[in-house]
Amino acid sequence: MLSVVNPASGSVVAELVEDTPENVASAYARAHAAQKAWARIALAERMARIVRFRALVAAAKDDLARTLTSETGKPIAQARNELGGFDARIEFFLENVETAIADQVVHSEKSGKVEERIAHSPLGVIANISAWNYPWFVGGNVFIPALLTGNSVLYKPSEFSPMTGLAIARLLREARVPDDVFIPLIGGAVVGAALLAQPIDGVFFTGSYATGKRVAETVAPRMIKYQLELGGKDPVYVCEDVDIAATAAATADGAFYNAGQSCCAIERLYVQRDIIPRFIEEFAQVVAAFRIGDPLDESTYIGPITRPAQIAVFERQIADAVAKGAKVLCGGKRLARSGSYFAPTVLVDVDHTMEVMRDETFGPVIGIMAVADDAEAVRLMNDTEYGLTAGVYTRDRARAEAILADVDSGTAYWNCCDRVSPRLPWTGRGWSGIGSTLSVAGITAFTQPKAWHLVRG
Ligand code: NAD
Repeated sequence: MLSVVNPASGSVVAELVEDTPENVASAYARAHAAQKAWARIALAERMARIVRFRALVAAAKDDLARTLTSETGKPIAQARNELGGFDARIEFFLENVETAIADQVVHSEKSGKVEERIAHSPLGVIANISAWNYPWFVGGNVFIPALLTGNSVLYKPSEFSPMTGLAIARLLREARVPDDVFIPLIGGAVVGAALLAQPIDGVFFTGSYATGKRVAETVAPRMIKYQLELGGKDPVYVCEDVDIAATAAATADGAFYNAGQSCCAIERLYVQRDIIPRFIEEFAQVVAAFRIGDPLDESTYIGPITRPAQIAVFERQIADAVAKGAKVLCGGKRLARSGSYFAPTVLVDVDHTMEVMRDETFGPVIGIMAVADDAEAVRLMNDTEYGLTAGVYTRDRARAEAILADVDSGTAYWNCCDRVSPRLPWTGRGWSGIGSTLSVAGITAFTQPKAWHLVRG
């Protein structure tokens, strides 16, 4: 059995039957048998079922947000935000799928003798292995376009958000997506590994670099498509010309929203030396005002840590930084209350010898470091294995674009952070992963091109 524990209270909210490797094999067989019929249904009909699913999710939004909060501890207002963002993503996919996968005649001779055409076929049966921090986002980025383009989906939600996974499956079924076309698989690493052992046609994984590497090593020899959306150590550089209070507020939100448990949370802040004393003062004031507490309370901004084991990582990184000369401006420890709460933590006087400036933290901890100029900021921003997002705050757009062009990240933010658009590819470099979801690229990712050479005999 899988015990689902509410991280705000430590109480068990559900006991779920875990799938076994045998179940996973039979789920694969069912998904494989069902896929071709699903792909043969007209696209308009597949779209109609996703439209129905979208309406069911909207109608159940409050209940679904509560379910998410009870299993992950995400503050309820942020859980509703996630469902709102999910709706916008479905809208994008519905508006763009027809054009994205339409056959395209790319050459036709005047004589009518020769035609060249590109067609898109579904991959087949895909594995969608998901993280817990934004299950609607990271799951939906995969299963919505995968289903629209005619794939069947074996969906393994994280063992920390399985109830959301089961709710998704129930609503898809109610929307008349066939049972065998979308199958949830409940469990952790063992079920994930059993899924990868099936003769699947593609893997779309969201999670840590360590697990992603294992996934890649497992499937690479089989020459199937894989995409990995992994961790980050995302930097922001604050230039001397900014509105300091507004920038401190915006970047503190970028660091601490969802208790910092976002792949694109700001984990490193570089601030131009001349303004760092005032910036730190403003930043500390914003952090001190965060409401920490019961995630079901509408006014809570920081809830508990979803995966309590991660707290050992925060403690290790903070101890390492302090031993090497960093100062804890605020926080630095667990909160004395039940549940897995960790105080939002700001470290100053940090440098790149410290783990906290190099390894993913994935929690409410940030290091702020002074830099002399743009060149030093670029060098430090690039001093990482990861490359998910990077941001620059300045009034000068040309300066920001010049800096960000030199930073090796999939996403570049000018005067914003922790922002995702369905119209733009979500894509990592280095240890942040391979491939893209969202945008038109995140629709065609679930298809394979077929090149037609048609010559009249
Ligand atoms: P994780 O790597 O522990 O687990 C991810 C998923 O992999 C889970 O469903 C887990 O059960 C499964 N899994 C574990 N071992 C497996 C194995 N051997 N074979 C197959 N599947 C296995 O990560 P997590 O704690 O769920 O998520 C946090 C990580 O995800 C962070 O690093 C975060 O940055 C990253 N993330 C990235 C993005 C992105 O878009 N780049 C988005 C969200 C989260």
